[in-house]
Amino acid sequence: MLFQPDMETMPLGKLRQLQSERLRHLVAYVYERVPFYKKQLDEHGIRPSDIKDIGDLHKLPFTKKNHLRDNYPFDLFAVPMSEVIRIHASSGTTGKPTVVGYTRRDIDIFSEVVARSLAASGCKPGMKLQNAYGYGLFTGGLGLHYGAEKLGMAVIPVSGGMTDRQIMLLQDFQPEVMSCTPSYALTLSEEFAKRKISLDSINLKTAILGAEPWTESIRKQVESGLGIDAVNIYGLSEIMGPGVSNEDVDEKGSGSYIWEDHFFPEIVDKDTGEPLPEGEYGVLVFTTLTKEALPLLRYWTNDITNIYYEHSSKRTHVKMGPIRGRSDDMLIIRGVNLFHTQVEDVIQYFVELSPNYQLVVSREGNMDEVEVRLEIKDTFSEILTSTTSHQELRGRVVKKIKDNIGLTMKITLEGPGSIPRSEGGKLNRIVDRRKVY
Ligand code: ADP
Repeated sequence: MLFQPDMETMPLGKLRQLQSERLRHLVAYVYERVPFYKKQLDEHGIRPSDIKDIGDLHKLPFTKKNHLRDNYPFDLFAVPMSEVIRIHASSGTTGKPTVVGYTRRDIDIFSEVVARSLAASGCKPGMKLQNAYGYGLFTGGLGLHYGAEKLGMAVIPVSGGMTDRQIMLLQDFQPEVMSCTPSYALTLSEEFAKRKISLDSINLKTAILGAEPWTESIRKQVESGLGIDAVNIYGLSEIMGPGVSNEDVDEKGSGSYIWEDHFFPEIVDKDTGEPLPEGEYGVLVFTTLTKEALPLLRYWTNDITNIYYEHSSKRTHVKMGPIRGRSDDMLIIRGVNLFHTQVEDVIQYFVELSPNYQLVVSREGNMDEVEVRLEIKDTFSEILTSTTSHQELRGRVVKKIKDNIGLTMKITLEGPGSIPRSEGGKLNRIVDRRKVY
């Protein structure tokens, strides 16, 4: 379903015009209101009137996470606090949290893009959403909450974790939709299997999963474990929160629509910052076209993906592929770039393995080594006691990883339940022993 068909199917020419108008307004707005941007544009010799349309965007300097940190907590806000109605902060996965603010109009637009995202996922007014994203400073909980209300859903604001309670509510309240991180959806699907709970006791049709990278391997597992469609939602607090982009349930696996009337995306080279052609992988950069409280020019997300138009799809907006990882999470192992999602991708080829894994990185001499901790499924636990089958499986995994990723990794096979699970939020799958604390 399309929540705002006029925007979602706007012909590209008209969309570019709208984006250009919004960009012109934005640049003048931040120049006037945010001392940081005035200084940055002056230093680059750019006057707001130099930016005439969206094609001029590349002339503007990037905004990076350290700029938000340097202006902690509120110095990048473009409105007085009397116009701010909400403050959130990033979850601080990679250091000190960055603080973001919203005016009433910002919250309206946030709710609208989340409502669009939910509609694209297959949600309809009257359905119930069990919202298992964390409520609090993290944008996930309240973001999904307001968007679902906007669409006309009944929200069950359970927040993250508390697996017993989640299962009880799934059974008693019979929601059709749930939202949480993909790693937590995996935890839940394993709990259903472990407790032998019949899927007939719940009414779940869809899970809206995001806030961390995930692959088709996890999708398969969660969909079969819970009997649902699992749909991707992407976002980051600096740009808005969840709902910057979302998959359409009928076009699953082909990328997530970026709501580009509000968030203009670019893909740039991670080393040079040069814009890359459609389809190529690089750093995702966003310009917020309509935000009032914390407008950002060319914000460097650090997320690595690609963007492309698909002319056969329901909407005109550009799509983004799955996030491979953040560039600051990318491991460089003996000269090869490695994201943990590449290992996750390989796991799906082995029926003996559960989708849980962890990468342990260490340094031996001058060489970086990666150990992949993998877990044998319950039904294959005899592999753990038979030296031959253990070695045979390890050999196959080493080979597949070498063939697909180009690195030889040490494989450790462990018993069911030994790898850490998500207890409700984002899950860190990398242990880096090279870091000196
Ligand atoms: P933090 O940076 O502290 O984790 P946020 O909670 O704002 O703060 O998280 C935003 C980040 O989460 C994104 O930049 C991205 O790295 C990750 N993320 C969010 N949604 C997805 C998704 N669907 N797929 C992959 N990564 C995602």
